[in-house]
Amino acid sequence: MTKIQHCRLCNSDNFEIFLKLGTMPLAGNFLKEEDVGKEDSYPLDVCFCKNCASVQVVEMIPRDTFFRDYRYLSSVAAKSVLEHFQTYASEIKERFLPDNGFVVEVACNDGILLEPLKNLGLNVLGVDPAKNVVKITKDKGLDVIDDYFGFNLSEKILEKYEKADVIVGNAVFAHVDNLDDILLGVKNLLKENGVFIFEVNYLGDMIDELQYDVIYHEHTMYHSVLALKKFLERYGMKIFDVKHLDIRGGTIRIYSSFNNANFDISKNVEYLINSELKKGYDKLETFKNFAKKCEEHKSQMLNLLCDLKKQEKTIIGYGMSGRGNTMLNYWKVGIDILDFGVDASPERYGRFVPGMHIPIKSPRPLIDVDYVLLLAWIFADDIIEKEHEFVKNGGKFIIPFPTPHFSP
Ligand SMILES: [Zn+2]
Repeated sequence: MTKIQHCRLCNSDNFEIFLKLGTMPLAGNFLKEEDVGKEDSYPLDVCFCKNCASVQVVEMIPRDTFFRDYRYLSSVAAKSVLEHFQTYASEIKERFLPDNGFVVEVACNDGILLEPLKNLGLNVLGVDPAKNVVKITKDKGLDVIDDYFGFNLSEKILEKYEKADVIVGNAVFAHVDNLDDILLGVKNLLKENGVFIFEVNYLGDMIDELQYDVIYHEHTMYHSVLALKKFLERYGMKIFDVKHLDIRGGTIRIYSSFNNANFDISKNVEYLINSELKKGYDKLETFKNFAKKCEEHKSQMLNLLCDLKKQEKTIIGYGMSGRGNTMLNYWKVGIDILDFGVDASPERYGRFVPGMHIPIKSPRPLIDVDYVLLLAWIFADDIIEKEHEFVKNGGKFIIPFPTPHFSP
């Protein structure tokens, strides 16, 4: 593990740590039984860049640690996520692509977006470094390169393919240390009038809704339109549209192109930037205040859980994601509080939460359980609907954000 010396977006060294979440294991690293207790832990500190107003994790973990064997498959996610990508594909096709247009997706995971794009008659190519995931994607008949995207790979792609009409990169800008190399690759591979579209978790939602659970080592950056605009400008690119979406606890989708491409800048861009300035996302003080609220939230959460345990209630966790791992490790909640956790992803069954060592099981009828701590609270609506029997039998969900509360 190393620490950043310069801001990942603007190279300035004028940044300051405002939040320390303590020592944490890597959030995506769900443990096999024989590895329990052998996992590495690292500090998790978050800083604010006073030069470009970006927010990022200070620690840098070598990327192969995360991405060569990746335990997250997009397509096993909730129904709302699948619908999101269907709509996303249709929109890209209608707004930006000719028939038979060519789309490249960086970090395509298991093809959750590529598949609907292909079904719309487009030529698609995916890139993803996770060998285990690429295999699944190829088995679906999709064209995928098993590697990291950057300038060198863009050169290799151009030996075999034409330039792209659209390049998509979802969540990728939140996951890497070398954003410059990705953007150099995009610039090299994109047609003059092409569009680079990417989605990232929105810093605004993290701050407004106190979503510190989105912070883990794998998520290196938390983006605002303010900071991304400055970053893209360094490469002769502009943001011409932006959409603020509810998905993943709050996401922004950025539409960018070369400065002289034929796209007028939409009012949405100015609107979000003004709202960011009004909320003080360009000021360190705003983030120091956020850190204070994180500590208060942690105390509230622990009080609530400890009260239930004193009443001898049974509590389990639901949705053992990276976000869940941040919560459990920051709160130091282990098997003294949660009997076990369940998750929809078969890749995680039989494994253990890193750091807190809570066993993970497949979803099962929730009998003999009084309370379910909804770690996957961003999918609360989907999950509560699915578990209506549990609710009918008097069970209650504990929803951690924005303030800890019960449902029903
Ligand atoms: Zn910066």
